[in-house]
Amino acid sequence: MSTPTLFSLDDFPVGCMVTDNKRHIVYSNRYIEEYFGYSPHELVDADLFSLLSKASQIIYEAYIVPLIAREGCCDEIRLTLVTSAEKLMPIVVSARHDSVYDRIFWSISSVSRSNQLFEKLTETKSLLEQKVSLLRTLKDTDPLTGLPNRAALTKYLDQEMLSRKRNGMAFAVAFVDLDGFKEINDRHGHHVGDKTLQLMAERLTGNLKSDDMVARFGGDEFVIFLKDCFSASLVEESLTRLVSKLAEPFKVDTLPLNLSASIGVTLYPQAKDVEPGQLIRQADQAMYQAKLAGKNQVCLFNTDNEVVQKEKHSELLAIRAAMEFGQFELYYQPKINMRTGKVFGVEALIRWNHPVEGLKGPATFLPVLSNTPTGLALGRWVITTALCQQQIWLQKGLKLQVSVNIDGYHLQHPQFLRDLSAILSDFPNLPKQLFEIEVLETSTIEDVSHVSSVLNACRLMGIRISLDDFGTGYSSLSHLRDLPVDTLKIDRSFVKNMLTSNNDLAILKGVIGFAHAFGYGLVAEGVETLQHSQRLVELGCECGQGIYIAKPMPARAFPTWIDEWYQQACQEKYKNSFV
Ligand code: C2E
Ligand code: CA
Ligand code: CA
Repeated sequence: MSTPTLFSLDDFPVGCMVTDNKRHIVYSNRYIEEYFGYSPHELVDADLFSLLSKASQIIYEAYIVPLIAREGCCDEIRLTLVTSAEKLMPIVVSARHDSVYDRIFWSISSVSRSNQLFEKLTETKSLLEQKVSLLRTLKDTDPLTGLPNRAALTKYLDQEMLSRKRNGMAFAVAFVDLDGFKEINDRHGHHVGDKTLQLMAERLTGNLKSDDMVARFGGDEFVIFLKDCFSASLVEESLTRLVSKLAEPFKVDTLPLNLSASIGVTLYPQAKDVEPGQLIRQADQAMYQAKLAGKNQVCLFNTDNEVVQKEKHSELLAIRAAMEFGQFELYYQPKINMRTGKVFGVEALIRWNHPVEGLKGPATFLPVLSNTPTGLALGRWVITTALCQQQIWLQKGLKLQVSVNIDGYHLQHPQFLRDLSAILSDFPNLPKQLFEIEVLETSTIEDVSHVSSVLNACRLMGIRISLDDFGTGYSSLSHLRDLPVDTLKIDRSFVKNMLTSNNDLAILKGVIGFAHAFGYGLVAEGVETLQHSQRLVELGCECGQGIYIAKPMPARAFPTWIDEWYQQACQEKYKNSFV
């Protein structure tokens, strides 16, 4: 009888590692030692960070730690490991948290190995997908839900439009997109995702008239054809009922779940002739409006909307072209200490040198960029340009803190930290603590814990964070509790009214007292007169920016301004009151 072979973790063809709650390595198998060149005693008790590149340390703090805290595990995350020979080696890690012993179990493999596996998998997957799509076009049914598919609905719509033209009856086309489906799929896997789609398909068919038609368009998108629609309000009413049915909690196996749906709907006939495909696009656009308006609701398409969309599109094209032609420029507004007169920093504020309309302020073009790839590209441009300018000034002996404004959607974008690290790595000699990010307090921060970990990662890099327009947001204090912040910028509306409104003065005093108590830095915006400056200093807010000190100016004007400021302007403006 042969003896059974005993395997140990040392025989595993991947790296296995265990860390404690202080990131210290308590175990690593032979693979890690051999492959990455460490000896066993080098690894035991070592800080996991000593094996990771700087960027990976950030990813660890910003993504892996919150993910593990939330879900207990993370899968297939790419990091860079520093080998014992100090070479950088890309790796793929997965981790599980053991809550009993408060340990994290890691599996680690080199990227080349996982790439091979991945390539094989994608090859097989694409072959399978080709087969499936062939089968799908042969049949008119969506295999998962049993509903008609896109091809079937399009055919049906063509026929119906032909016959409606003859009999003149009205109908509606609705586009349904589930809100939060991706999270269910990502969090609980495809099995649960598939069951959810089947259940939603049942709810859709079960809550419509028998001669209405529901088709699955793909993913979590469905299209409904509603017959005999007498008025827009009736259609909206019945779809609103449908939305609340879809939002009812449900269970997959024993797992309690809930999601909602956004529905866009368009009516036929219309003033102008439309094609079937156009109707679906209109419903899709209206669905998008429903998402923007906060999801879980119905939005009716109207042709004005179409005009707005077209305008938005052409504005975006113009902005993209302006970026290419270098028409954007950063202006810089000084920030000073109003007690000593010292200029300690500048805020970068974007301007568009429009060839026809002249100099345009951010309010005229930033809103249309919200949540668009062009907006992200412009955000990256702002950071790069500001850093570049800071470097030029530093080389001339001007040491200034430079701050940039970052929109909420940019900050929350998964790519943000990677972009920022990449840009910063082009300026290795700049002291990071001289760079500051201003986060708009009112900007929509959807996932506070995510933003908080991003800001933490920024601070780990040495960057300072300031909360902009402080006091105007609906949740100033709760944001402060959750977000790691160095400085509060008091919104200019409070400063503006402090001399005339007791209410605003009281808020201002409250914010100043609060900042002192908790050790935040303070900068007042909108300092427009000497009285504002003096009163702010009396109240305990020494730092300010505003047109009394200087308007935002192009970079080339700054050296002259600062020379004049120190030579005479500051003494004149502050009547020699500086200490
Ligand atoms: P903000 O961050 O509150 O910037 C200060 C705004 O106040 C600037 O307007 C500035 O010109 C104006 N200002 C300065 N001193 C005074 C004063 O004494 N009185 C008054 N009433 N206003 C003063 P601007 O340049 O039009 O910028 C408006 C907003 O646009 C900024 O508000 C910021 O939220 C956003 N913004 C500007 N540049 C950028 C950028 O590069 N990226 C992003 N994402 N947002 C930017
Ligand atoms: Ca700002
Ligand atoms: Ca502000």
